[in-house]
Amino acid sequence: MNNILLMLPGPVNVEPNVLAAMSKNIVNHRGDEFGRIYNETCEKMSKVFKTQNQSYILTSSGTGGMEAAIANIANPKEKILSVVGGKFGERFADIARVHGIDVEELAIEWGTAVTPEAIEAALEADENIKAVSLIHNETSTGVAAPIKEIGKVMKNYDALYVVDTVSSLAGDNVEVDKYGIDVCVTGSQKCLAAPPGLSAITLSDDAWKAVENVDAQTYYFNMKKYRESGNKNPAQTPYTPSVSSIYGLLEALNDIEKEGLDNRIARHHKNAEACRNAVKALGLDLFAEEEHASCTVTAVKMPEGKTDDEIRGTMLNKYGVQLAGGQDHLKGKIFRIGHMGSTNYKELAITFTALGMTLNEAGIDVEAGAGVTALAETYLQ
Ligand SMILES: *Cc1c(COP(=O)(O)O)cnc(C)c1O
Repeated sequence: MNNILLMLPGPVNVEPNVLAAMSKNIVNHRGDEFGRIYNETCEKMSKVFKTQNQSYILTSSGTGGMEAAIANIANPKEKILSVVGGKFGERFADIARVHGIDVEELAIEWGTAVTPEAIEAALEADENIKAVSLIHNETSTGVAAPIKEIGKVMKNYDALYVVDTVSSLAGDNVEVDKYGIDVCVTGSQKCLAAPPGLSAITLSDDAWKAVENVDAQTYYFNMKKYRESGNKNPAQTPYTPSVSSIYGLLEALNDIEKEGLDNRIARHHKNAEACRNAVKALGLDLFAEEEHASCTVTAVKMPEGKTDDEIRGTMLNKYGVQLAGGQDHLKGKIFRIGHMGSTNYKELAITFTALGMTLNEAGIDVEAGAGVTALAETYLQ
């Protein structure tokens, strides 16, 4: 067994019962048994999305789900407003461009959150915007966008509200119907705590109306096909799904049900608060504006004059704790601590014990146990 503790913003450590569920034998994906499993998995996904609408499971990583979300709702040359404040916002915009969609970027400084006012102003200025695409939890910077407040603005416009909740669903508050989200997409290997390989998507009635009038420039991710196959009896997917991954996802969704979705979200918020307090207690600075800090991943500025090797390298090679680095221009400037899925105080205690020692070994004069003390104090509050 691999005993590296993954403190990444996905993939996350997977519980043994989820791994065991994946070892069941394969069944015919067009038969009754799979139909029941697929239906149950989709229904449980809809509960986690907090929507009355149907969900669909795609055999692809989260990016495939992002592509499905965009490619089915706009024709080439139609316009999408794409919020870009990090790596995944860039990806959403790039996907739209690949499909020949006209992209208007709403660029925000990395580490900050888009405001509802900025979105409102962009929609006021251009009535041809057919959809707004947004990353809820920008994993590259550790920022959570105010999707509830943005949803209130979106209700005053016809534009579709397309949200990537890949690194937030089942970790942070996401209420698809209440916030008026038209297309919501997520991935299996983040807060859902299932293995990588699946994405899930749900579409509102308005989104489906758009889908009807779009000549989707995608074969595999054509959502009309997923709807058609999902409505068959037994329910199925248009192409062979990763049956084993779906066994795993269903088991992970059962675990979420047992914990209670709201309890799980509260746990993520508490862990994030403890993590931020521990970071500060070790004399380190947070990268993202704290008011919009993510509750699933914390981005930390690299200590002055230190390298990725000295911090993340020691954490991994000496202490067996894997942290994520910065991406693009943030490479070597930040590191990121993922605390999603089943992560709790135990994993954070190991992480901050190791980080305190690592900082000392890198020549930083800080009390090695200060992070762990701050964790304990936060959990005791
Ligand atoms: C991880 C992630 C994705 C999808 O990445 P994949 O590697 O394709 O699963 C998309 N959006 C966000 C915000 C993510 O964190």
